[in-house]
Amino acid sequence: MRQKIAAGNWKMNGTSAALDELTALSKAPPMAECTIVICPPAPLLYRAVEQSSGTAIKIGAQDCHTATSGAHTGDVSAPMVADTGASYVIVGHSERREAYEEQNSDVLSKAEAARDAGLIAILCLGETLEDREANNTLDIIGGQLTGSVPDGANSTNLVVAYEPIWAIGTGKVPTFAQIVEVHDFIRTELNNRFGTDTGNSISLLYGGSVKANNAAEIFTAENVDGALVGGASLKAADFLPIIEALANS
Ligand code: PEP
Repeated sequence: MRQKIAAGNWKMNGTSAALDELTALSKAPPMAECTIVICPPAPLLYRAVEQSSGTAIKIGAQDCHTATSGAHTGDVSAPMVADTGASYVIVGHSERREAYEEQNSDVLSKAEAARDAGLIAILCLGETLEDREANNTLDIIGGQLTGSVPDGANSTNLVVAYEPIWAIGTGKVPTFAQIVEVHDFIRTELNNRFGTDTGNSISLLYGGSVKANNAAEIFTAENVDGALVGGASLKAADFLPIIEALANS
């Protein structure tokens, strides 16, 4: 049985007042096999961990550096994230791949740093609209998997999130068949590389304009084990119906 995960990426949104949303989320009834992960901005990590202690909510960072410490002004290392009590970290989000020109090799090093710090990496993959229109989606995803998923990956250190770049924050969602095709492909690639016991145990999330009105259908796909949600995770009132749809899937 794979872990179902509803992960919220707050991006660069929220000051301490946003922690009230964690309180609202923590009132959700306990949902078996369903993990809620909130990834707030780094300055809120420690308080978010404190505030969610004793609830079903786990906390994650949105990025980490590849090094454990050193002269990297403004960066945060994986051991620092772990030291806050957070248990997850997003790596390879397309906004970082684009804005900071992160390559697969950088994402690989970040996922390794996360693993070595005892964190679970939520590793993001996704194609551009040009890739999709040129029928290159599976090639791109395959290359990202090979280039950025570390050796030794398993369900205790890795979650994979498929996020078509053209669907992030745009309100555009791939067809159900497109989501199924890519998730089935990722599952097969993981099984081929790590063996079926390990490959089948790694949770795969879909991300890109997931909302209350499309979540239930997306979660019916066999290899979709949850969602990575941006905009609709900022308010508990918007995120809770997505979590409930996952729990009921
Ligand atoms: C994201 O940034 O990972 C994301 C999926 O954003 P949104 O849900 O807003 O499309």
